[in-house]
Amino acid sequence: RTCTHPKMGSLSSDAPVHAVLFPFMSKGHTIPILHLARLLLRRSLAAAVTVFTTPSNLPFVSRHLAGTPASAVSLPFPGGISGLPSGVESTDALPSMSLFPAFASATALLQPSLEAELQRLHPQPTFMVSDGFLWWTLESASKFGIPRLVFYGISNYAMVVSRAVAVENHLRGPMAEDEPFALNAFPWIKVTKNDFERHFSQPSTEDTPLLEFVMKTVVTMGKSNGLVVNSFKELEPAFLEYWNSECVPRAWCIGPLFPLERPVAHDPHVRTTWAEWLDRKQAGGERVLYAAFGSQAEMPAAQLREIAIGLERSGASFLWVVKSRESEIVADVDGGFKDRFEDRVRGRGMVVREWVDQRDILMHESVHGFLSHCGWNSVLESMCAGVPILAWPMMAEQPLNARMVAEEIGVGLRVEAADGTVRGFVSREGLAKAVNELMEGDRGEAVRKKVKEVAAMARKAAEEGGSSWTALETLVEEISGKR
Ligand code: UDP
Ligand code: UDP
Repeated sequence: RTCTHPKMGSLSSDAPVHAVLFPFMSKGHTIPILHLARLLLRRSLAAAVTVFTTPSNLPFVSRHLAGTPASAVSLPFPGGISGLPSGVESTDALPSMSLFPAFASATALLQPSLEAELQRLHPQPTFMVSDGFLWWTLESASKFGIPRLVFYGISNYAMVVSRAVAVENHLRGPMAEDEPFALNAFPWIKVTKNDFERHFSQPSTEDTPLLEFVMKTVVTMGKSNGLVVNSFKELEPAFLEYWNSECVPRAWCIGPLFPLERPVAHDPHVRTTWAEWLDRKQAGGERVLYAAFGSQAEMPAAQLREIAIGLERSGASFLWVVKSRESEIVADVDGGFKDRFEDRVRGRGMVVREWVDQRDILMHESVHGFLSHCGWNSVLESMCAGVPILAWPMMAEQPLNARMVAEEIGVGLRVEAADGTVRGFVSREGLAKAVNELMEGDRGEAVRKKVKEVAAMARKAAEEGGSSWTALETLVEEISGKR
């Protein structure tokens, strides 16, 4: 096992632990880090926690830290960055994900203000946990002798499969886009080129900035003092073991990084319309499909309309969360009938157009399936709530998450595109069929049974004495020089 703690324990072992956390500015990367902040304080693993963010993300961060002694510090994002609309300080506020590379590089402009704040912080920071995308934070941490842990909001499975594909050089191989190939490192796993973004399988000169960015995140990760993974060992033991024997830095599974309890009983006066709607479904003994595609993925209008008609055709009860930019398209769907889609499904289906508490929905007794884009947080939240997944990956490492869900762990089924490819158009018939199979079919029952077992495993890992509980304690003690 490669042990890489070059600079651990630079502080005296009785100094109070001050954890400095710097999440990447997107919901999927920020939410688990905010939970880590609360966890460190609640378990007295840290005496102080400081979370860095940018001004427009400060309200979201502060709201999630309310009631804890953690402080949120915002670093001003320089204005007038070429190629970026001003005031956009998170990837989920970008008008298009094509601006991701520009946004990701612009974060490096925060480096001087981060270092000014680090200089000022009391007590002296003991360690930093920063997002892999904020690769330049390694240099800042090093300047102040602070060990840096990297947070990558993805599974061990996705980490090692991506690495194996790169090391074994498959993406430049002769296979067609949708031709499955096996990995030497994991012969039972088959993937296709289409499971990876085109900028990796068919890079063009325009992709150079993004590929350079990815390279920087990989190189700085390797030089960091550890890797914090929002997963738990029992979910993917072979992949965690593989990472820790073949790769650096050492990975620590400390998840799930969210509370496993249902949010405390709601004040009936602030109960949301969707929560009341789910309560009614529960009372009527109906099984609800929850459909949501995360905060980033961009769905073409034609596909959105097809989803609406597919959900209608399935006959299932559904709660569908749409993003603000999708709202009008969905409102206009008529599918060739006189009435609009939402009028036709009223009572049976509900379209929600606001930010919801996704975990609360997944933990509602009425919810029996999740049509998901397979962002890692969504996958983990669904598994922990014991809800089987209907996997419909869109971007980033989501196709790998979908394979993990359906082929490796067996907690979900896949939506199939009409042309059989990973990224193809999904027809209304295809969607309706997949929904029915998950909600009522035999394969649906099999994955529902399996996901309940996984949920129980997650609970065990997170509770006192469990693998994730112990890993976090050991990690903090090692990195603070107390062990
Ligand atoms: N989320 C939420 N309410 C919403 C939309 C998303 O709470 O209306 C949360 C969701 O529970 C998850 C995160 O936002 O924790 C999204 O992360 P994920 O990795 O699933 O997808 P991404 O948005 O990064 O594509
Ligand atoms: N990634 C990728 N293609 C991209 C952007 C990211 O393959 O266009 C990789 C990235 O290197 C990281 C993983 O996918 O290892 C997760 O990406 P991201 O966090 O952007 O996805 P999200 O969870 O926010 O949807």
